[in-house]
This record gives sequence, C-alpha cells and structure tokens, in this order.
Amino acid sequence: MNAKPKVLVLGGNFAGLGSAQKIREFAGDAVDITVIDRKNYLLFVPNIPADVFENKDPALGQRMDLIPAFKRDNIDFLQGEVQSIDVDNREVHYTPSERPGAAPEKIRYDYLVVALGNRLAYEKIEGFAEFGDSVSDIYLGNKLRKKLWEGGYKGGPIAIGSAMFHQGDGAKGLEPYPGGSIPDALAACEGPPVEVMLSAATYLKKTGQGGPEKITVFTPAELIAEDAGEEVVGKLLGIASGMGFNYVNNAKDITRITAEGVELANGQTLEAELKIVFPDWAAHDFMRGLPISDSEGFVITDLLMRNPKYPEVFAAGDCAAVTVPKLGAIGHQQCDIVGRQVASAVGRMSEAAANTPLQPVVNCIGDMGDNQAFYIRSNSWYGGDTQVLTMGHVPFLLKMQYKNLFFRTQGKMPDWGLDFSTMMAEKVAS
Ligand SMILES: Cc1cc2nc3c(=O)[nH]c(=O)nc-3n(C[C@H](O)[C@H](O)[C@H](O)COP(=O)(O)OP(=O)(O)OC[C@H]3O[C@@H](n4cnc5c(N)ncnc54)[C@H](O)[C@@H]3O)c2cc1C
Repeated sequence: MNAKPKVLVLGGNFAGLGSAQKIREFAGDAVDITVIDRKNYLLFVPNIPADVFENKDPALGQRMDLIPAFKRDNIDFLQGEVQSIDVDNREVHYTPSERPGAAPEKIRYDYLVVALGNRLAYEKIEGFAEFGDSVSDIYLGNKLRKKLWEGGYKGGPIAIGSAMFHQGDGAKGLEPYPGGSIPDALAACEGPPVEVMLSAATYLKKTGQGGPEKITVFTPAELIAEDAGEEVVGKLLGIASGMGFNYVNNAKDITRITAEGVELANGQTLEAELKIVFPDWAAHDFMRGLPISDSEGFVITDLLMRNPKYPEVFAAGDCAAVTVPKLGAIGHQQCDIVGRQVASAVGRMSEAAANTPLQPVVNCIGDMGDNQAFYIRSNSWYGGDTQVLTMGHVPFLLKMQYKNLFFRTQGKMPDWGLDFSTMMAEKVAS
C-alpha cells in the first residue's frame, strides 16, 4: 500500500506548474503529486502582445508541452475540467476533457493547491465579440494580428484600456510590509494596456500610419497601473504625454463597445476604430460560495498561502485573493511558499525554513515595440520602499530571454537567472 500523502494541484499554467515543481523540490519523494488542467500545454500569456505587434502567430511560439515537464518530476497529469471542490470531504470533481462524452470522476487529496487562474470575463462587455479586440490568448491575439497586418485596420483611432475589476474581501487585514496592506485595485492588471499602448504606437510608426496621437489609453482608476507606485507611474505618464498619447482616467468601467468606439461608465465615449480592452478578471463560477472563497470567489489565504479555515488548502497565482494585481510574477513568489509549506507539513522542511510570508513585488517587463521594453520593480503600493523604472533594449532582451530560459528549463527558472535579470535591467539599462 502506498501511504504517501496525496497532493492535488488544480491548474497547470504558471502557478500550477510552479507549485507542483516546488513541492517536488522541497518535499522530495515524501508525497504523490497530481496536476489537473483542461489543456496539456502551458500558455506563455505575457509574450502574446509582442507576437501580435510583430505579426507572429503565438500558437507557434508561446506554448510549452506540459507532459514532459511533469514526467521529469514524477508528477501525474490528468487532462480534465474541474467541476467542483468539496473541501469538507477533501475531494475534487472533474470530467476528463480529452474527448467529449467522458464520465465525471472524483479524486481525493490530503493537500490541495488551487491554481486555476481566473476567467477573463469578456462576455460581460456588451459588443466585445463583434467590435472588441484583445491579446490575452491565442484566439484573440491572432484575430487582432490579422486585422493589423492583413488590411482590416484602416489607420483610425485606437482605444486601449481596462474594465473595472471586482476585488473580493479575501485579503483584508493582511500586512505584507510593516504598516502596509493588500490595497483595493480598480483594474486587475494594467501592465498589459500600458505595454499594448506603447507597442501599438511603434506599429503605427513602422507602418507609416501615424503615432501616439492616434491612441487613447483609459483606466477605471484615478491612476493607471497604480500598483507600480506613484513615482514610477508619474514618470511613465510624463513620457507618454510627451510622446503625444491621450490619457483618460476615472473611466469607472466599460459600458459597451460599438463600431464607433468605447462607451465608458463615466459617461464619456472614446471614438475608435480599434478597441483593445482587458476585461474583469472574475473567479470561476464554481469557486463562488465555497467555504474557502471570498465575497467574489477568490481563494482566501494568509501570507503563507494557506486557507485559515482549511489549512490543508493552499492557493497560488491569479485565483488567490492576495494576488493583486493579477500578475504572474507575484504567483511565482507564491509557488515557492506553497512548496515550502507542503514540505514542512510532511516533515521535510523545518518551520523556520518554510514560514517566510509573502512580500509581494510588482515585477513587470513590458514590450514597447521596436526591440525596446520598460522594466518595473516596485513594492511601494503594499508598504515597501522600492520603485524602479528603466527602459531600453536590455529589458526587451530580458523579456525574450526569460521565455526562452523558461521553456528550456521547463519552468524551473534558476534563481541566478532572476537575480541576473534584475541586475541587467537595473544596472545595465539605467
Ligand atoms: C496580455 C497579458 C500580458 C501579461 N503580462 C504579464 C507580464 O509581463 N508579467 C506578469 O507577471 N504577468 C503578466 N500577465 C499576467 C499573467 O499572465 C497571469 O498573472 C498568470 O498567467 C497567472 O497564472 P496562473 O497560473 O495563476 O493562471 P493562468 O495562467 O490563468 O492559468 C490557469 C490554468 O488553470 C486552467 N484551468 C482553469 N479553469 C480550469 C478548470 N475548470 N478545469 C481545469 N483547468 C482549468 C487553465 O487551463 C490554465 O492552464 C499578463 C496577462 C495578460 C492577459
């Protein structure tokens, strides 16, 4: 009989793959690990915008096969659609998703890691399917790429921005830095709109269709990308307005997208031929109302990524209430914590080595087109004291190299790689 504790990881993208690998690294052979995801590849979402604006198909360059990555660490993989989580009976209901018609099944766990991300709720935006665009997956990326590069786009104004994010109450009272908090965000993730605005301007210039003056970027909040810190955003906005971009803040939300433009909840209408938008990052429907979920369906954890009521349940990545903004880089920090916590629970790591709580850092490299990128490292929004912004070719090289290294190591980024990136971006590029 195999009496090893069973670790079940739900989701196999950045946070699911990273958590499973860290658990294996720190807990060794003390546990059995199973991952469930509906698809059997990792989608490298952050590099889709760069592909779109360079006329490359992200289906070819941004997918990594998960099967060998898991095999290498003796991690079982089930391709299935998670239907529900029964935390009282410690079981998960799922339906194998390789072919339609599969019979629903259930699987038991001793430790559960929820890493299911969120649903990007485009369906909540009226008119999106007909008149809107985005860059968050292969389908949308290719739809926009074809408009940009195959004659669909005629050179008119471009509006870029986010719908309002509905953050739950699951991170209230946490203090990641002395005197700090996990603040309330009005947009889920505003690195992408900033990145897309800069890349779109480069595209316009390169194709002889104009420049930043054709682009309006909007935010539901007082300040775009406020999580990057006021100083950093102030610098970015100064540069952007100097270049000629138009900026609308306090948009509140997107009410509707039409052929003519974007109607905002503050009453303004932005005329635009292209409407590139980012929706609300909403929890999956089956996560709402669970005893582990907050008022919006995000998983409640402490800063050790454990649910306080069900300490055998962990969360990592976008589905965790504490992940604000919804940034892969913050999920990456959480995977290490989850790995240590599980290792400590099964006696493979001391509490002292495991119990370092999350101190989120906004770490973001955004493509600007023309082989240039901006780099941000900041924790001031949470009460820390760091705000770094650099721009140039070195951050661009790092963004591309990060993906190559990630794929080459099947997600096991060496720590020296991250330190090296920080050093290069901050010392060499500045
Ligand atoms: C355009 C864009 C650019 C971005 N750029 C950056 C960046 O530069 N830096 C950065 O740090 N972050 C960036 N982000 C954010 C980053 O992509 C996310 O934070 C990250 O993908 C979150 O990882 P995750 O594993 O938590 O969730 P996801 O990547 O969303 O993965 C969730 C996984 O769960 C699976 N899943 C979901 N529901 C089910 C179900 N019911 N059954 C089975 N499987 C399921 C999915 O198939 C998926 O594999 C960007 C986001 C966008 C949209």
